[in-house]
Amino acid sequence: MKIALIGNQNSGKTSLFNLLTGSNQKIGNWPGVTVEKKSGYIKKTEHELIDLPGIYSLSPYTNEEKISRNFLLEEKPDLIINIIDATSIERSLYLTTQLMELDCKIIVALNMCDLLEKKGLTINEEVLSKQLGVDVLKISALKKKGINELVDFINKENFTKKSKQIYEPTIEEAITEVSKNLKTDNKRFISVKLLEQDEDFANKNLNNAKVSKNIKKIEEKYSLDTEQIIASQRYNFVEKVKKACVIESPKKQTITDKLDKVFLNKWLAIPIFVGIMALIYYLSVGIVGTYTVDLVDAGVTWVSDNVSTLLTNWGASDWAISLMCDGMIAGMGAVLTFVPQLIILFICISLLETTGYMSRISFFFDKIFKKFGLSGKSLIPFILGAGCSVPAIMTTRTIEDENEKKATIMLTPFIPCSAKLPIIALFATYFFAHSWLVTASLYLLSIVIIIISAILLRKFIYKGKSNTFISELPEYKLPSFRYVARDVFEKSWSFIKRAGTVILMCSIIIWLLVSFDWTFTYGVDVNDSILADIGNCLAWIFYPVVGEYNWAVTVSAIQGLVAKEQVISSMAVIAGLAEEVTEGALIFSSTGIFGFFNPVSAYAFMVFNLFSAPCFGAIGAMHREFGSAKKTWFAVLFQTGMAWVLAVIINLVGSLIMLL
Ligand code: GDP
Ligand code: MG
Repeated sequence: MKIALIGNQNSGKTSLFNLLTGSNQKIGNWPGVTVEKKSGYIKKTEHELIDLPGIYSLSPYTNEEKISRNFLLEEKPDLIINIIDATSIERSLYLTTQLMELDCKIIVALNMCDLLEKKGLTINEEVLSKQLGVDVLKISALKKKGINELVDFINKENFTKKSKQIYEPTIEEAITEVSKNLKTDNKRFISVKLLEQDEDFANKNLNNAKVSKNIKKIEEKYSLDTEQIIASQRYNFVEKVKKACVIESPKKQTITDKLDKVFLNKWLAIPIFVGIMALIYYLSVGIVGTYTVDLVDAGVTWVSDNVSTLLTNWGASDWAISLMCDGMIAGMGAVLTFVPQLIILFICISLLETTGYMSRISFFFDKIFKKFGLSGKSLIPFILGAGCSVPAIMTTRTIEDENEKKATIMLTPFIPCSAKLPIIALFATYFFAHSWLVTASLYLLSIVIIIISAILLRKFIYKGKSNTFISELPEYKLPSFRYVARDVFEKSWSFIKRAGTVILMCSIIIWLLVSFDWTFTYGVDVNDSILADIGNCLAWIFYPVVGEYNWAVTVSAIQGLVAKEQVISSMAVIAGLAEEVTEGALIFSSTGIFGFFNPVSAYAFMVFNLFSAPCFGAIGAMHREFGSAKKTWFAVLFQTGMAWVLAVIINLVGSLIMLL
């Protein structure tokens, strides 16, 4: 049999389709349009299943409606599975009233039945089946309930189809009269379309005189045009059906409802959310951060010193010791410094997740995010992104809509991650009197840029409106400590592993480039190193950003690709200072290589580092989620291009203002 799967958007078509067909799918586009076409065979059967686009009606106003309608009329499937969201059947049944008019057999699959009880709804499917004259089965595509029964039912091929009169007598009579002379299939459907004066049929000259006579009769009686009358009578029918088969019992107030009154309160939700986030950053970046960064730094220095002594005693050469200490240990150490605060951050966020708060607040933000093409599901990556983009990008997996997911992956690194904080801290405190104001302005800027980019991306590149739909909200519950422990361990471990792989490799490369010149002589002055030459070649890129042709700035910014915190340690090293001295006064001394910085170029440089491509670790995560090198390159170029344009604008406008 050829079976068409049809229903509203977000009714669960794709979920059911995947369940029924398994891996047995063909995906392409409908001929001539970019609407996705999916078909496959129901597991262990000969039945072909076609996933039609999500629609609300069979009037041909949109591409999707046209495709579905043409498919049903021309390809003549043997069976329609009309999937309906059981929690709001009045919205779905409008389409059903139109499907009922086709000659095709229909099964109504009442999906999302797992949610009925929670919503205090009871649906009597026998009554519904009688009202519609077709078979009704209850299923849950998410919980995989009723799926075997559905397949068995299809296999029996014993379907009910009673023709139902759903309009008032005047219209029913007109339908009968018009359909009498038709010599096609789907007589009832086409008669209704003719009465509605649907262009596709009216032009085909199907006994025009009789149709016009009947239209006139109807319009005289109701003094409205036929299309409106027919639509309104369909709604009346749907209303009547719903009354007959749905019982709404008043819901009990649960603890979740009570908590929602506070946490999702119209006025309180956002202040509480901001408060919670501020507290988390105060705990992790603030308290734990300031305390542990020095501690880990001391540990790394201790290891580095001891390894150096040990290697010296073994008679290792200078370059080997430098490779080990300045390259490998320093590079990995710079990343490991952030582990304690990340652990705290991961614990807090994991707690928000297991208690259900995160999902519920995403739901609250859903409406706001939909305005610029994203959905509440993008909120979680953005929050996580403030800690580290890597786990943040990984959580975009929960977004089903491919284009929305891609836009979110691309925008997540725009949130200043914890490794970008040292850059902000250094520049903001040295160049500005009110450094907190500058920091706050940068966070605000990142929000504005995310919104603008989201709108642009969704309009021109990852086109579409968000139709991600949060259908199931978990209740609030006490946190599960086992879950938190495992989650935090996994995330922290993957972060640490990163230090041992990507970062290690890049640190070695950077060390090689800083330590050698083109003749491969070791120990050259940093100004003569390969890296300086590379920096000189690329310095023009940064000229408009900082207003100075300077290889050192270029090289430092490029090192942000290894790890963002690398930018300032690189500046410290290049400034000719001993190891990790990152005090602004020393780095920016007027005689030094970075002496040219002023508040404007400092702000522009911070902005460039904040928005340009993230570190290799995060680029790797983007690559995993995009599943394509081309898309990853595009994202990296988009981010860096955006960063550059912004920084140049800031430098230009800022310099002009300073001149006035
Ligand atoms: P489509 O737009 O019709 O293809 O719908 P999808 O299959 O993409 O489903 C939309 C959303 O509803 C997804 O978030 C699904 O996880 C969810 N969903 C689908 N079926 C069920 C169900 O039976 N119960 C619940 N609670 N959610 C479901
Ligand atoms: Mg779908």
